Amino acid sequence: MRFPGPKALEILKDQNHYYATNTATSRIVPHKRRGVFVIDVDKFPFLDLNCGASVATLGQHPKVVQAIVKAAERNLFTEFHQGPNADGVALAKILTEKSPVKKPSKAFFTSSGTEANEAAIKLAEAYRYHRGEKEKRKKTLYFLNGFAGRTHGTLSATTSDPMAQRNPYWKHCDRLDSCYLPYPQKGHNWKELKTCLEEGRDLFGNTFLLEEVDYLLIEFPCQGEGGVIPLDEEGLKYLFQITQQAGIFFIADVIQCGMGRTGSIFGCDSFSWFQPDMLTMAKALAGGMSAGAVIFRADLDWKPKEHSNTFGGNPVAMSAALVAIKETERLIKKGAVKRLARSLETRLEYLAKQFPDLILEVRGWGAMWGIEVRGSLLKTSLITRGEDIVNETGCGLMLLGAGNENNHVIRVMPPLVITEQELDLAFSLLKKTFDSVQKEMETALDQNFIR
Ligand code: PLP
Repeated sequence: MRFPGPKALEILKDQNHYYATNTATSRIVPHKRRGVFVIDVDKFPFLDLNCGASVATLGQHPKVVQAIVKAAERNLFTEFHQGPNADGVALAKILTEKSPVKKPSKAFFTSSGTEANEAAIKLAEAYRYHRGEKEKRKKTLYFLNGFAGRTHGTLSATTSDPMAQRNPYWKHCDRLDSCYLPYPQKGHNWKELKTCLEEGRDLFGNTFLLEEVDYLLIEFPCQGEGGVIPLDEEGLKYLFQITQQAGIFFIADVIQCGMGRTGSIFGCDSFSWFQPDMLTMAKALAGGMSAGAVIFRADLDWKPKEHSNTFGGNPVAMSAALVAIKETERLIKKGAVKRLARSLETRLEYLAKQFPDLILEVRGWGAMWGIEVRGSLLKTSLITRGEDIVNETGCGLMLLGAGNENNHVIRVMPPLVITEQELDLAFSLLKKTFDSVQKEMETALDQNFIR
């Protein structure tokens, strides 16, 4: 039997027929997860090198699974207005005490990342409204190659692939008031960002005064969907200082980078000066259950009835999150994330040296890496070949792309619990994948030449 097997082909056919079109491109139909491996419905194993864009960072963690089962058996669901959930309150306490958000702070729970960012945006807008500042502070600052979600409010901040993601539906008022700045990229000059802020002009010529800006929303400390682009600390510091002086709310989105991915629960602990007004989390927050959070300055809190939801802070997700945080903290403390980060960097730099005709650059932060390759077709071929390699080796790769028409990236963000031995396997499969695509390209070139 060859991959994709008969069961997968049947489900993929039904998916195409019945399931809404989405961002899925993989032919893997997952059946179960075992540690860092995903086994498909025909029993083909794949090593997970993307964790669903950094959700399953703990793999299939037995303690998280146990917490979910226990919580579900105890109480599948009660909502906010039926009474507080003890685990949700405990989680809010942990997040507000430990996060870098200015204190005192509070937390609001959601079911997804986009809902957490929506809540952050609404907090900013509600605060301005109640202070009579809404008309004065209409503008917002976002970043090129940014991603904040796919719902209507966050679409303005989502620029990682704007033509595909939002442009036809983007609201007129957002268009006028949204300003776009260059993301200060590590190792690159951030002069353009400085010029934009000093001159009050964005990358598209839209003008703004800092006093007119309500909030800024930025992925911290690394952009994910836009092509795995790490922040420059000095650039961030400049941006933070100038916008804080102007009274602009700083919203740090650590949805993809948090929960240990870039080395700490809240994205990055090494910037002691960094105290955002709000911070949004999701993805790995509940170890694979759907949960998000916005942690915010307590004085920004809503008025009664101004905001709520149904599934935010549900008992099962909150129990899972308490365990996921504890286990992730344990990994961070024992140095596992640092070791993984170093290992990924060394291995990826070596891979880039082995395939200079295919790889433009490898870059990342902590255990969040991207391989920028030379073109979109190449990116797609590599991801497909990573899956097909299961037919030769008995184990395939689960890879995920990022970027846009200028920036063709394959994400490398394995579960944080991956062992060195499993990394050896991952990189031998990656090398085979690159080898195979390179050979195919050389053959195609030769044939063209002969013709
Ligand atoms: N923000 C960032 C940085 C993300 O990476 C994502 C999802 O990829 C989101 C927000 C949106 O999260 P969700 O897909 O859970 O709505």
